[in-house]
Amino acid sequence: MKSRIIITAFLLVALSSLFLPLLAHEDQPRNIISVEKNLRLEKKLRTLALELDLLFEWEGRIYILADDDDLRTLDRLNIRYVNESYKFPALNPDQLRAQGGLNGAYHSYQELAADLGILQLSYPRLARLFKIGTTLENRKILALKISDNVSLDEDEPEVLFLGCHHAREWISVEVPLLLARYLLENYAADARIRRIVNQSEVWVVPLVNPDGLEYTIHYYRYWRKNRRLNADGTYGADINRNYGYAWGYDSTGSSPEPASEIYRGSAPFSEPETQAVRDLVLGKHFQAMITYHSFSQDILYPWGYTEIPTDKNQLLDDIAANMSRLMQPVNGRVYKYGEAGALLYLTNGDATDWTFGTSGIPSYTFELPPVDQLQGGFFNAEQDIGPIFNENLPAALYLIEWSIQNFGPGAGQPQERNKRAVFPYKTKAPEKQARFQDK
Ligand SMILES: [Zn+2]
Repeated sequence: MKSRIIITAFLLVALSSLFLPLLAHEDQPRNIISVEKNLRLEKKLRTLALELDLLFEWEGRIYILADDDDLRTLDRLNIRYVNESYKFPALNPDQLRAQGGLNGAYHSYQELAADLGILQLSYPRLARLFKIGTTLENRKILALKISDNVSLDEDEPEVLFLGCHHAREWISVEVPLLLARYLLENYAADARIRRIVNQSEVWVVPLVNPDGLEYTIHYYRYWRKNRRLNADGTYGADINRNYGYAWGYDSTGSSPEPASEIYRGSAPFSEPETQAVRDLVLGKHFQAMITYHSFSQDILYPWGYTEIPTDKNQLLDDIAANMSRLMQPVNGRVYKYGEAGALLYLTNGDATDWTFGTSGIPSYTFELPPVDQLQGGFFNAEQDIGPIFNENLPAALYLIEWSIQNFGPGAGQPQERNKRAVFPYKTKAPEKQARFQDK
């Protein structure tokens, strides 16, 4: 009985995935238009939110993916708009597939869970799937562990890869997922990969924010936060402002206002997503960490909450420089690197400050391509997934090998492992102009 239900469910999923792309192709051609952002208009747009595909806000205007029906609706409501498609040559409106349920080649929560399950089934000796938390909307936060003797907790350096704290940063799911696949699929044939997998324990959490991701697929492509219903009736806490190191340090790097895009939550680790990452990290001995975001092509290291460098600045910078140097030849793209608070903008309560602040391990925020809003911002074409992963692969492999060299068997400095670093918050950082919040 149970198996019949499973088979039926499987068939339904398989059938719907066959037909949905057909439906999507029936869509009318779409344009990227913009309307002035003001209160009166915002109210009007909000009542239309389920019909209109709001893409993003930029320089005082709201950008919308609109087909002919949408344009007629705007005309009827006397809302003036400008066609902006020409401004975004990297954004093909027909490929955005934003609102309405389909995210194309990008993974939904269900698709990701299925693919992680398949990896575990296909490589039972090397891959093991863990549920590390449950979201507010009852979705699982999944982690895939990759190592030889995967069911054992061996004395090997552990390295963590996180994706998609921010819902709209779809590419940040794909890169860590593809890394997991790459390690598993190349284990048998590639001696370097076999050595890496045998001598380390790699943990991959491609989707820290499943509720947010689903919301971007079905309702609003530009959603960033999780789906916490706040006390004032607004939704969402910024998961990457909710970690417990320098949480709420100032109101530049995070906000106390629930409606804000960078709302830090009601308390450190108030959100199930940060609790899940925290508990995973505290239960292990990670030696290095990368958390993927988009966009701007940066490699950022702590601190985020202040421009004052850490006492390991040279090490953090050397590793970042090496990673960037390895990435550049793949597709020619340059990833800038530097201290987060100095290079990009100030943040407090983010993942890298917490892992570095509590464990002292090299911790990096990767801002994936594109480099700016005009090149597509949070929207990457489906055909960009492969090249972006390819250029990120050497950096990820380098960081794992760095961990093996420094903390693996025979590294000869176990006393250094996971040493606790305590850095008091000394001075208030200067106010800094926030730009696009992508970190
Ligand atoms: Zn982000």
